[in-house]
Amino acid sequence: MGDEFSRIARYLAPLAGPEGLGLTDDAALFTPPAGAQLVFTADQMLEGIHFIPGDPPALIARKLLRRNLSDLAAMGASPLGYLLTTALPPGIDESWLAAFAEGLAQDQTEFGIKLFGGDSSSSRTDISLSATLIGHVAPGEALRRNGAKTGDDIWVTGTIGDAALGLRARQGTLPDPSGYLINRSLLPSPRIGLKLAGIVHAAIDISDGLIQDLGHISRASNLTAHIQADLVPASQDAAMLGAKYLEARLTEGDDYELILVAPPGNADRLAAVCGSLPVTRIGTMSEGEGPVVTRDRSGRLVNLKHFGWQHF
Ligand SMILES: [Mg+2]
Repeated sequence: MGDEFSRIARYLAPLAGPEGLGLTDDAALFTPPAGAQLVFTADQMLEGIHFIPGDPPALIARKLLRRNLSDLAAMGASPLGYLLTTALPPGIDESWLAAFAEGLAQDQTEFGIKLFGGDSSSSRTDISLSATLIGHVAPGEALRRNGAKTGDDIWVTGTIGDAALGLRARQGTLPDPSGYLINRSLLPSPRIGLKLAGIVHAAIDISDGLIQDLGHISRASNLTAHIQADLVPASQDAAMLGAKYLEARLTEGDDYELILVAPPGNADRLAAVCGSLPVTRIGTMSEGEGPVVTRDRSGRLVNLKHFGWQHF
């Protein structure tokens, strides 16, 4: 593999916007949109933790961007560009970097972003990647976790639990004949571009499982989320696997759907904003014990053994 500078020139410089100055200066120069509030978020992808060794490099690249884009979506922000840092082990093939850059290029086009800059180095053994996304939002329109009010409805976009089941399918412990669940795990769809300001009191994206991420809204808002498990929407492929995966669907997985908390009476407005993306009411915010209370359709408590992914 060529030296660092020729690799950057060959694979990364073509991805840079004018802000990146051809990746030949010490830093990027960026003029923010007039009057905008800037929004920053960073996420890592570590080999063996966030992806499986041998995963297709283009999909790793796209998921790295999409995890960050989902955080911008959760804040109600629109993306502008990103900084990228890579640490690659010495043995890695040059075709890996070519395919990785190809994946970045594909999603740059899809989401209208450019590379602003970053850093490349070598690692001892594992691939380690990080992206910092820069987005913008009109002042006062950012969505926060702490705005939920008693009586607000809890909504989710899309379907919940596909990524958790997709990971199991990749590990060979459940069937995925259509490949749908695996695809949802490898290539999430960040819900960028929904005009939620003025409708939604609080929002978060699901990166560590529905219950745990909903719990972050509860804690930040000093309330309890009461949800009904059977209202949590399942994809056709997830539903076919049956009720025994309910707990996995609720507590695991990086779905990158949004949890939206809105005052009652907003069903039509939310549906209009989400267009072809389904949005489903799963419960209500109110007083109570603990961050999230889950019941079945007859009102019985559903006891969940664990609440979501813990990093440490
Ligand atoms: Mg997040």
